[in-house]
Amino acid sequence: MNKTIAYVNLVKQAKQEKKEIFDSLNKLFRDGQFILGNETKKFENSISNYLKVKECVALNSGTDALTFGLSLIGVRKGDEVITPPNSFIGSSAAIVHLGAIPIFADVRVDQNIDPIEIEKKITKKTKAIMPVHLSGLPCDMEKIMKISKKYNLPVIEDAAQAIGTKYREKFVGTYGEIGCFSAHPLKNLNAMGDAGYLVTNNKKIAEKVRLLRNHGIKGRDKVISFGFVSRMDNVQAAILNIRLKKLKGVINTRRANARLYFRELGKLKNVKLPYENKNYFHTYHTFVIQAENRNELKKHLEQKGISTKIHYPYLIFEQDAYKKRFKNINYKKFPVSRELNKKILTLPINQYMTVKEIKKICIEIKNFYKD
Ligand SMILES: *Cc1c(COP(=O)(O)O)cnc(C)c1O
Repeated sequence: MNKTIAYVNLVKQAKQEKKEIFDSLNKLFRDGQFILGNETKKFENSISNYLKVKECVALNSGTDALTFGLSLIGVRKGDEVITPPNSFIGSSAAIVHLGAIPIFADVRVDQNIDPIEIEKKITKKTKAIMPVHLSGLPCDMEKIMKISKKYNLPVIEDAAQAIGTKYREKFVGTYGEIGCFSAHPLKNLNAMGDAGYLVTNNKKIAEKVRLLRNHGIKGRDKVISFGFVSRMDNVQAAILNIRLKKLKGVINTRRANARLYFRELGKLKNVKLPYENKNYFHTYHTFVIQAENRNELKKHLEQKGISTKIHYPYLIFEQDAYKKRFKNINYKKFPVSRELNKKILTLPINQYMTVKEIKKICIEIKNFYKD
């Protein structure tokens, strides 16, 4: 019987951090502050220091960060927002909930939005550009910011998978007007439930997000505008404050795991490894290879007890939710996304993996291709 190699290991993470987390929660229980307390404030300050950005607002999810962000840069009914078709559904859902239309631009072979395609999709209705730093790899922010300036279009970055990712020494999420992050349990900086945060250098936007997340209430009793319930729980913030201190280590371990994969699989003809470039600091939220006979390889690895995923098996416009709402898109116009979707496979890369486990995965991949 094969011992399985897990894709993520949240149980091990919780076990290792149990004492620290319980100590912190004990303190919180004594204070009895569960909504917008000290831990939330501390988390916001730590993130703005870490990312070198003026403002951070702690929210209940990355999706709400995107929704508020889009709304505050003025996205309204009928507007168009340019975004890639190969993201998690939350990116486009945020656009749709504002009555706006996601306009897809094809990606490059590194899976991230192609600036040339962005420019082709700009119309009079375009209101914003929403790149997604998929897998923890930065988009080509230099080119994207040039387009933003040329057409006077704000950029809102979906950095849900990319905390700590840098493009030319500057953190992603801080290039555009607004950066949106998720702390979902599967992200590199993860809570034990839903959580997210928005960053910006624009104080006015931050103030408005603070109102929106909390019923539009200012102070105690004055309601400035109608809002929502979208605060980050103080309990989740306490857990995130502990984990933020370990983030550098988590990223380093994931990068070391990636290097091991590169060393072991670098010579394979049937496998293309993730894009690397000296200006791109990849944090490896996921390690996505492009493999020939992907479905058979996935099955083979499954049989050997190795758990893999596909991020994502469907392009957003292939989903029923999209088809029910918008007219069908000419699928053929997205050659790169389409081609990638036949080949992408996410290998386990979590910080709890051993060298032996990664080597076993590589051996099984080589066995599959008889290489
Ligand atoms: C996780 C994720 C989101 C949504 O974040 P939640 O915190 O789950 O709402 C949005 N976009 C991308 C690319 C994601 O990976």
